[in-house]
Amino acid sequence: MRVLVTGGAGYIGSVVSAELLATGHEVVVVDDLSTGHADAVPPGAEFHQLGITDLGGVLGGWGIDAVVHFAAKSLVGESVADPAKYWHGNVGGTLALLDAMRSSGVFRIVFSSSAATYGDATENPIPETAPTRPTSSYGATKLAIDHVLSNYAKAYDLAAVSLRYFNVAGALLTGDGIGYGERHVVETHLVPLALRAARDEGGNLSIYGSDYPTPDGTCVRDYIHVVDLADAHLRALSVGAPGDHQIVNLGSGSGNSVLEVIETVRQVTGRDLSVREQPRRTGDPATLVAANDLAATVLGWRPKRTLAHMISDAWMLEKSVP
Ligand code: UDP
Repeated sequence: MRVLVTGGAGYIGSVVSAELLATGHEVVVVDDLSTGHADAVPPGAEFHQLGITDLGGVLGGWGIDAVVHFAAKSLVGESVADPAKYWHGNVGGTLALLDAMRSSGVFRIVFSSSAATYGDATENPIPETAPTRPTSSYGATKLAIDHVLSNYAKAYDLAAVSLRYFNVAGALLTGDGIGYGERHVVETHLVPLALRAARDEGGNLSIYGSDYPTPDGTCVRDYIHVVDLADAHLRALSVGAPGDHQIVNLGSGSGNSVLEVIETVRQVTGRDLSVREQPRRTGDPATLVAANDLAATVLGWRPKRTLAHMISDAWMLEKSVP
């Protein structure tokens, strides 16, 4: 299959591109490099520095069979402060991409949706049928795109799959010595921040809230290895018929607390990090864990890699970067 990966210079997009290439697919990456890195595009992928609103005149000539769509703004806090950037960038951008796909005869898409579409969960594990009440503009734009895909699939014979990720971590370390991992300029995620603190021996890490209604008082999240996540995308490319839109959670079905993540970082790295308890971060629900039965049924997928595996792979990469 010849696959267009939007946002293929970003964290998850680059891992999925590398895995597509490794399994014999052809990959065309578009990324405007607003947050991605050109050197994260895997060797062997065709790369165009373009935004998703720029594809109208070119997509038809690329011979694309399917699109895996990652390109998006993805900072939750920023999305609340500047929603216009997120509605124009994420929803407006996706509408332009879908226009380009329709006029070029490309009718298959796998979309990077998010657990942020659920907002404050009323039940855990969260099934795909749970109420969707996003608490940020970021989550609202991902949900809006899910609605667009449902409408477009039905009306325009699109085969669409939305994958709702829970907490992605880890890195892909390839046999030829290349690593693909998280390199956000503005880093807000727990695992890379904890590894950074471990790397700067005794470095500081904030724990945002220790008075949550969870077993140890810190937030519980469902962590998933980016390589397992990529595997789900590859599977999603071959499910669903024209006219179908499927929404599938990607998570492990169980969670780890912030303190458990920190302890695993200590064990894997053999380093200490100093933690400081801070007030809760606005908008963080206590617990978010995926129900993943649908992923097993629809994609034949279950995650294989543990939290220690994610942290170990991310640590290998963190150590190797000067
Ligand atoms: N977190 C933390 N310290 C940090 C970053 C995150 O305690 O420096 C907590 C955060 O409050 C949440 C969990 O770690 O409970 C996971 O946060 P992350 O930003 O990685 O993912 P999110 O669940 O917000 O998408």
